[in-house]
Amino acid sequence: MMQFIKSLFLLEFVGAVFLSMKYFFAPKATINYPYEKGPLSPRFRGEHALRRYPNGEERCIACKLCEAICPAQAITIEAEPREDGSRRTTKYDIDMTKCIYCGFCQEACPVDAVVEGPNFEFATETRAELMYNKEKLLENGERWEREIAANLAADAPYR
Ligand code: SF4
Ligand code: SF4
Repeated sequence: MMQFIKSLFLLEFVGAVFLSMKYFFAPKATINYPYEKGPLSPRFRGEHALRRYPNGEERCIACKLCEAICPAQAITIEAEPREDGSRRTTKYDIDMTKCIYCGFCQEACPVDAVVEGPNFEFATETRAELMYNKEKLLENGERWEREIAANLAADAPYR
């Protein structure tokens, strides 16, 4: 009987229209991406970067801790001493197709050289573009230094 009344007065249809109207006028949960983005944690693990000191010197001292700890074996480093006796990398590659964004490399680094920045929009058209070399990583570091430094400072009390 109840089903008959519902069918006769199109109650389910009317209910569906009211529900649609309710959500039509409700505040929208989605945002105007890519012009507006949601908040990101300072601990967000995005695209990798190699940082420099404010005087332009590379932070990385080629200790290879990041290479050793990487569970995906995505990092390859070669190093040679410079003429001044300091040790720096001659090759620092990350195979981003292997990386699982665990953040271990960043945690292992004693000088905050390799970091995972806030950039998550680095999709590429070819696999080869995801083989990052030292130049690309240093370039990322220069581009994102302000955001990376702010994230590290925000996270520092909890490390
Ligand atoms: S985030 Fe993890 S998997 Fe990726 S390079 Fe660093 S240590 Fe390796
Ligand atoms: S990035 Fe950090 S952990 Fe990796 S080799 Fe350089 S100094 Fe060592």
